[in-house]
Amino acid sequence: MTAPVVAVVGGGQLARMMTPAATALGIHLRVLVEDPDSSAAQVVVDAPVGAASDEAAILALVEGADVLTFEHEHVPNALLDRLVAAGVPVRPDAAALVHAQDKIVMRAHLEAIGAPIPRWAPVSTAAEIDAFVARAGGPVVVKTARGGYDGKGVRVVDRAESVAAWLAAAADGTGAPLLVEEKVPFLRELAVLVARRPSGEVRTWPVVESVQQDGVCSEVIAPAPDLHEDTRAQALAVAAQVVEGLGVTGVLAVEMFEVADPDGGAPRVLVNELAMRPHNSGHWTIDGATTSQFEQHLRAVLDLPLGDTAALAPWTVMANVLGSSLEDPTDALPAVLARDPQARVHLYGKEVRPGRKLGHVTVRGTDLADARTRARAAAAALRGEQNG
Ligand code: ADP
Repeated sequence: MTAPVVAVVGGGQLARMMTPAATALGIHLRVLVEDPDSSAAQVVVDAPVGAASDEAAILALVEGADVLTFEHEHVPNALLDRLVAAGVPVRPDAAALVHAQDKIVMRAHLEAIGAPIPRWAPVSTAAEIDAFVARAGGPVVVKTARGGYDGKGVRVVDRAESVAAWLAAAADGTGAPLLVEEKVPFLRELAVLVARRPSGEVRTWPVVESVQQDGVCSEVIAPAPDLHEDTRAQALAVAAQVVEGLGVTGVLAVEMFEVADPDGGAPRVLVNELAMRPHNSGHWTIDGATTSQFEQHLRAVLDLPLGDTAALAPWTVMANVLGSSLEDPTDALPAVLARDPQARVHLYGKEVRPGRKLGHVTVRGTDLADARTRARAAAAALRGEQNG
């Protein structure tokens, strides 16, 4: 076989959703899965079982592979550096990936390249947090630098005492270091998805709005409605600045806050968070764009020409299926598919747990309100809600 082999670390839904694109392009996917029942292991033929931190498992994974890439950021960087030294292309490489692993490194580097970010400071004592609160004049956001996801390492506080356990854990080394940020009075959250290949080509999808519920993305609207042309231009420019400035290869999601301009001009953006892999804010591209983020990631890490990123319809709405009262969300397929033949349903083969991302639904259309209602209704039905 001479087909390119892409080795992927992580067996969740992101690796699972790379498979249709790999199949279409004749690319061989080899995915390191945490467990033989994981979302990706159900559909990937070549799916060795092992931990992302297990050096022997990673070495076996990259044997004969053209490139190593990731669906999550939890691979030890020293190991990645050793792979690169041994001649294995790692994309994105450890030097880029660290920005998606560590919010302190990310904030410091974004500041250094002049990207707009919230006011922030690394902190290690209660006094430093309380001083930041006093300067901000109100509640602030304390974050763990590493290991957080879906808002789990994020807390809004008005005094250091509220994060005493985090401070203690950071001090004795059992927990991650902390940073504090201004609580940004954002108008809404936006995201820009961009792909870059090693030889330099960059392609960006339209700016989207991402709607969060309890720190978890519940809905994405592409393109972001009523976005001021200047804000759109700034968001795209910032994403380009970040992807180049941090030397990212593959797909990068730049999550942003849209904030009012104090001088009354067009709203501005501040960068909140980065993901160096396909991301929930880009799931709409599977059904809503000429090239999906999953296909683009494979093209980019293999240094193949990138695909067109144009939207296929005026509006695309993606609604997440978060938890379900059904034993399995596929129980709702007869009703959901009968009611809306144009809704695109994606289920991840994951066991139901409260609030867990089990799938998503995408609806394209010419009327935003209609697309939104239909995407939400289908997602609600998959969650087992009677009137969904
Ligand atoms: P995670 O890495 O766990 O996803 P994020 O840093 O992206 O954490 O934060 C999760 C959510 O918390 C954001 O989507 C946003 O809604 C809110 N948030 C995070 N930082 C701030 C901030 N500085 N000001 C206001 N809200 C914030």
